[in-house]
Amino acid sequence: MEKTTDKPVMLIVDDVEINRVLLVQFFQREYVIIEAENGKEALEIMEHQPVNIVLLDLVMPEMDGYEALSILKRKERYASIPVIVMTAHNDGDSEARAMEMGAADFVTKPYNPIIVRCRVHNVMARLENEWRKLEQAAKDRQLVEMHRYIETDALTGLFNRETFYKRAASAMQKNQDKAYDIVYLDISCFKAINDLFHIETGNLILKTAAYYFMASVDEEDGVCGRVEADHFVICLPQEKLDIDTLIQGLDNTVQSLGISHNILFYAGIYPVNNVFLPVDQMCDRARMALNKIKGNYMTRYAYYDASMRDLMLQEQMIVRDMEFGLQEKQFTVYLQPIYNLHTGHIVSAEALVRWQHPTNGVITPGKFIPVFERNGFIVRLDRYVWERVCQILQEEKQKHGKVTPVSVNVSRLNFYNLDLLSFLTGLLEKYDLEPWMLKLEITESAYTDNPQQLIAVIGAFREHGFPVLMDDFGSGYSSLNMLKNLPVDTLKIDMGFVQELESSERASSIMKFILKLAEDLDMGVVVEGVETKAQLDLLAKIGCADIQGFYFSRPLPYENYMKLLDEDRKAQEAAGQ
Ligand code: C2E
Ligand code: CA
Ligand code: CA
Repeated sequence: MEKTTDKPVMLIVDDVEINRVLLVQFFQREYVIIEAENGKEALEIMEHQPVNIVLLDLVMPEMDGYEALSILKRKERYASIPVIVMTAHNDGDSEARAMEMGAADFVTKPYNPIIVRCRVHNVMARLENEWRKLEQAAKDRQLVEMHRYIETDALTGLFNRETFYKRAASAMQKNQDKAYDIVYLDISCFKAINDLFHIETGNLILKTAAYYFMASVDEEDGVCGRVEADHFVICLPQEKLDIDTLIQGLDNTVQSLGISHNILFYAGIYPVNNVFLPVDQMCDRARMALNKIKGNYMTRYAYYDASMRDLMLQEQMIVRDMEFGLQEKQFTVYLQPIYNLHTGHIVSAEALVRWQHPTNGVITPGKFIPVFERNGFIVRLDRYVWERVCQILQEEKQKHGKVTPVSVNVSRLNFYNLDLLSFLTGLLEKYDLEPWMLKLEITESAYTDNPQQLIAVIGAFREHGFPVLMDDFGSGYSSLNMLKNLPVDTLKIDMGFVQELESSERASSIMKFILKLAEDLDMGVVVEGVETKAQLDLLAKIGCADIQGFYFSRPLPYENYMKLLDEDRKAQEAAGQ
């Protein structure tokens, strides 16, 4: 038996039986056919029988074709069913009227089987086509949704890292006539915002920034994304980047949120000169430019240049060679004596490390300490330096029966190690020394990291008899505030003050104030960075006592320092002091 259920249903509505018989003959192979004698009957059938196409005679008793057509087209559930109307020969008017009312097509009597079949076929094909289009559109929408889900970051709706890389590469390759910039943006102290406020506040800032980026970057030839936490990237043609306006607009937008904290964006820009460089490397370069201005409150953006690449290569070399360098004792300790202004003799020294690199010569700490502070190696290097200093102290003690104390730098990363104190006391025991011989220099900035912990550790140092010096005092922002909570033995005044002394009244009155404060709080003062006689005289007038600086001596290799100590001691003895 022929299966009928898959066939579409055709409703033939005509009051003349012979017409219906003819049409049934034409279509019965492809359609399930239902017949009705007038409009009313047709509508009744359609109430409970789905129909795919209607062939509708216009002139009928009871309810004619026009009326039936107008009802069908007005009802939503029927409106999309195609209706082909059947008209008498030579009746242009009724055809036009029916078409206006929404008929899909018309056929004229007497029927030409070929034409009738063609028209029905065309109407059905057109319908099918529309369905297919709708279906495709739905699928496309789904696909877009899915892509969005995979490609974007759920919080901000911006492209995620991988997608940004892909899209930026293709934008740049598509528009090779345009020069591009990669901009890497970061929010200052975002972590603090998350700590101070609710996490939602942080999220709101990120979303607002993302919204701003989307609005200011043209999708035609630009791309923006969020690569991590509070780091955003933008790729856009140079002609469209006005970085001052971008940052200003961003500040204004974020400030309009009314969060009572200074939220500032910083940017690094890499002008792309090779579009085939992987985008992640372009971003690294933009980020490198950004890192250069981090913590610099006046400069909000910087461009990448080749010197940064050299810096990166140098950093890679440092990281590559550090382990071996430590093993091979390439790190040496220099000592810079500290003089007392009144007596003119050495009272102590600071230990400063140098790297005697086998191929690159002597590397100064300014180059490698920041790298080691980033990767944690500083903790091991510091301990190495402290031990070396203890050996030197022991040697002096054994030779002269006297010791000139030496201060060592204690990088802030050390404070995270619980065995710090026991390591130091262990050294004293091993080299038979007393704690006053080894002074500990810590920098102000350690305080902002984690005040509570620092206060506790420094308290413990002092209880054990280690003198504690506050290094670079006055270079930070919280200096005075901090002193209240964090008693130390000595302030080491930052070099910046000395350099400004001659030109600025203010610097010298601050210096006087610090001296007074130190006296009141029973603390010593060392002034660093004294280079000239003029500076020395000024300091003497103000009343400073202990001085460290090139004027007296640069940091010296151990043997030279020992020699200098010897001479100083002899001079002291000769003077009967
Ligand atoms: P710092 O602790 O403030 O050390 C003083 C720096 O000032 C030294 O630079 C010293 O050579 C320099 N200096 C001394 N007198 C003068 C002067 O009259 N004029 C000028 N212009 N500079 C002077 P250096 O040795 O290059 O060390 C730089 C920084 O590296 C140190 O600054 C310290 O923060 C760090 N550092 C050095 N050795 C170590 C170490 O063993 N451990 C740690 N954690 N940091 C160290
Ligand atoms: Ca120091
Ligand atoms: Ca210093």
